[in-house]
Amino acid sequence: MDITSLTAVQLSERIQKREIACREAVEAVLDRIAQREEQYHCYISLDREAALEAADEVQQKIDAGLLSSPLAGVPVAVKDNICVAGMETTCASRILSGFVPSFSADAVLRLEEAGAVILGKTNMDEFAMGSTTETSAYGVTRNPWNPAHVPGGSSGGSAAAVALRECFYALGSDTGGSIRQPAGYCGVVGMKPTYGTVSRYGLIAYASSLDQIGPLCRDVTDCAAILDTITGHDGKDSTSVDRRDGNRNKGNYALALTGDAAGLRIGIPRDYLGEGLDPQVRDAVLEAAKMLEGRGAVVEEFDLSLVEYAIPAYYTIACAEAASNLERFDGVKYGFRAKEYEGLHDMYKKTRSQGFGPEVKRRIMLGSFVLSSGYYDAYYLKALRVKALIKQAFDAAFAKYDCILGPVAPATAPRLGESLADPIQMYLGDIYTISVNLAGLPAISLPCGMDKAGLPVGLQLIGDCFQEKNLLRAAYAYECARGLFTQCPG
Ligand code: GLN
Repeated sequence: MDITSLTAVQLSERIQKREIACREAVEAVLDRIAQREEQYHCYISLDREAALEAADEVQQKIDAGLLSSPLAGVPVAVKDNICVAGMETTCASRILSGFVPSFSADAVLRLEEAGAVILGKTNMDEFAMGSTTETSAYGVTRNPWNPAHVPGGSSGGSAAAVALRECFYALGSDTGGSIRQPAGYCGVVGMKPTYGTVSRYGLIAYASSLDQIGPLCRDVTDCAAILDTITGHDGKDSTSVDRRDGNRNKGNYALALTGDAAGLRIGIPRDYLGEGLDPQVRDAVLEAAKMLEGRGAVVEEFDLSLVEYAIPAYYTIACAEAASNLERFDGVKYGFRAKEYEGLHDMYKKTRSQGFGPEVKRRIMLGSFVLSSGYYDAYYLKALRVKALIKQAFDAAFAKYDCILGPVAPATAPRLGESLADPIQMYLGDIYTISVNLAGLPAISLPCGMDKAGLPVGLQLIGDCFQEKNLLRAAYAYECARGLFTQCPG
C-alpha cells in the first residue's frame, strides 16, 4: 500500500494500531518529495533529519501510551510565514533570508504537542501578498494538475504539497483568501477560521486585522481534526478568543460531521453568480448546491449587497496595515542587510530596496499613501466604514441562513505569468474571498469538480462568526454526497 494515499486521520489510526511506524510515514512522504519537488517546488526549505528524529520521538511517546491524538505521528508542512523554532522562516522574501526564529507559532506548538512531525516550510507569495505564488523570491510553485498553471496563492506551496501528497496536511494563512483560493485551484480542502480562533502569535503579520492561520488538507474529516488541535486562546495574542465556554461553539468539531444537512438553510448570493464568473465554475457550484438539497438543506438565492466595494476596501486596509507591519524589516533586526552603504539611512534604503520584491513595494507605497495626512480620511477611514457595512450585510444574511454558498474564485487556475502582468486584474480575482476576512467570518473551500482543461473547481461555504460547526457539517454532507475526491495529480 502507498502510505501517502492515506488521509491524516487514516494514517494516525494505522499508527495507533502499530500497522505503520511514524518513521515509515515520514520516509514515504520524503520519497514522494524527492520524486516531485524538482518539478513542482512546493517547499522553500526541508529538514529531513529533524523530521526523522521527531518521528522517532513521537513513536516512543505513542508506544509509552502518552500520545493518542488524531494527528500523532502525521507529517505536516508549514507555510513559510509561520515561525518554527530553529527553522529558517523567510516569508518567501529576500529580506528575511537567513532569519531563524528562536520561537514557534502557537499553532505550531499545539500541533507538536499533539505529535505532529514537521517536514519543512512551504513556498508562498512574498509576505503573503499575491494570488499565485509567483511573487516568491525563491521561485514559483507549479499547479499539481498542470505545471503550466499556477497553484494559486498565497499559500500555493502548502496547497500543492497536500495535493501532490508531499505532506499529509499543511498550515496556511488567509488574509484575503490565501488558504481557500489555492485549495480551490489545487483540489484540496482549505479553511479560514473565524478571526480570533487560532492564535496569530508567530505568524509574521501581513494585515493583522485580517490574518488567520488555518488548515489545508485532503478532506473535511482531517480539517475538523486539525482545527480541533490548533484552536485555543493564547495569552500572547490578545485577539485570540477563549472558545471553551459553551456559547462560542468551541471544539469537538468532529462531532459536526454527521453526513446530513437536514434543515440547514443555505443562501447563494445572486451577486456571486453574475458577470465575470466562468460558466463552468458556476455550473459546478450550482450542482454542489443541488447535492446539498438532496441531503436535506434548504437552498435559495438572495442579494448580498456591497460586493463590488469589497476589493477597494480590502486593498486599502490590507496595504495600510502591511506598510506599518513591514516597517520593522530594516536590516538591523532580522535577516538580510545590503552589503554596501553609507550611513544608517542609506543602509535602510538599500536594504529595503534590495530586500523587497516589486509587489511588496507596490503595497508599501499604496499603504503609506492611504495613511498619509490628508488622505487618511478620504481612503483609510472610508475603507473602514465600508468594512463595517459589509459586516452588517453578512449579519443580515446570517439572520436568515446558516451558510452562504458560492464559488471560491471566478475561474480555475490561470497560466503562469498571466496574472503578474496586470495586478489590478489579479486583485479582482479575490472578489469572493476577501469580504469574508473583512467581516472576520469562517469559510471553507472544497473541491467540487474539474473544468474541461482538467483543473479543479473550488466550492466555498461561508459561516457566521464562531459557527465553524455549521460549515463543517455542510461541507461533510456535500463530501458524502459527492464521494471523496481521491484523484492524485502529478
Ligand atoms: N490575494 C490577496 C492579497 O494579495 C490575499 C492574500 C492573502 O490572503 N494573504 O492580498
